[in-house]
Amino acid sequence: MKDKSFNRIQVSASALQHNFTAIQVIAGADVPVMAMVKADAYGHGMVMAARAFARGGCVNFGVAELREAVILREAGIQGAIYITLGFFPEDVALVFRHNLVPVIYSYETARLLADKAVALGQEIGVHVKVDSGMGRLGLLPDELPAFLERIGKLPGLRITGMMSHFPEADINGAPSTVQGYEIFSKACREVKSKFGNICHIANSGAVLNFPASFCDMVRSGIALYGYHPAGKSAAGAHNSVNLVPAMTFVSQIIQVKTLPAGSGISYGHTFRSEKPITLAVMPVGYDDGFSRLFSNCGQVLVHGRRVSVRGRICMNMCMIDVTGIDNVRAGDEIVLMGRQGNEVINAEDLAQGMHSISYEVLCLLGNNNQREYIE
Ligand SMILES: *Cc1c(COP(=O)(O)O)cnc(C)c1O
Repeated sequence: MKDKSFNRIQVSASALQHNFTAIQVIAGADVPVMAMVKADAYGHGMVMAARAFARGGCVNFGVAELREAVILREAGIQGAIYITLGFFPEDVALVFRHNLVPVIYSYETARLLADKAVALGQEIGVHVKVDSGMGRLGLLPDELPAFLERIGKLPGLRITGMMSHFPEADINGAPSTVQGYEIFSKACREVKSKFGNICHIANSGAVLNFPASFCDMVRSGIALYGYHPAGKSAAGAHNSVNLVPAMTFVSQIIQVKTLPAGSGISYGHTFRSEKPITLAVMPVGYDDGFSRLFSNCGQVLVHGRRVSVRGRICMNMCMIDVTGIDNVRAGDEIVLMGRQGNEVINAEDLAQGMHSISYEVLCLLGNNNQREYIE
């Protein structure tokens, strides 16, 4: 049996490496770039993506949970690995065993880490998460002085960094970015004078729009995968940076047939042809991350041409209209995301149809299909 599925995600390692280098050039030689590889590297495959970034010189990686960090270490990824969301108390030993950097936002976690450090006769460096206006995870600026004072007394624990996040840095000139940065940098000045640690807040949007916020490190996700955080409309504003989408999604036709005028197509017969129609059946559905929102409105590439989805998207199939295209046969390649001939469909095109963003498209397609790495 072939281990291959009809549907394949292809990820270009050289595109990932290229994007890392491009973002590192913007950050400048003195500002390291943390590659955010959470969510299985936005669907690109965490270990392989981390290796591609490492090839470009990356030595800082960000994940959400401990288990991801352990997988990276077990695959031989070196450098600093930041756990940005947290871990279960019973797993605290793994933080030490794998030499990871926890991001903390509660006294309980700080205490747990400090106790373990003392028990092991080691020190643990932590980064403190501040909420400077995102309205998400982190300590509020008001709580910070007392928190730092309290955890500063814990033996075995060192505050090696502080981080925050922007809610709207993808929008060039958004006031919340300037405000958030002011709040964060004030907090940074205080800790720096005491602990001399590193501060970081900039995501891809801030890397592209707000150089003043680079601090001691930037954290980039979407740009490393080849997309501008604000989507298509913003891409033109940054034509100085050339980002290359790394992910392609291809499938193949499994049946071609011609139906008479008036035929209903797929569940609910939401499409009815007025003329005879030549349909190709495609083995891709919402289980493969091709959203049901593409019912009657998605497009894919066949023989270098854009063709339309007819009827509802099923779980593992959908139908496309290949009327008038010569010699379409079972086995022919379909490109759902990527280039075929002169036509291109990218994650932003798909995101538009789903009322979403490239991030979600990449996660859905990448994490629900077989992946292969190509150069
Ligand atoms: C995901 C994430 C990022 C990266 O955001 P992009 O918009 O993809 O660059 C940065 N910081 C944190 C804390 C994140 O969770």
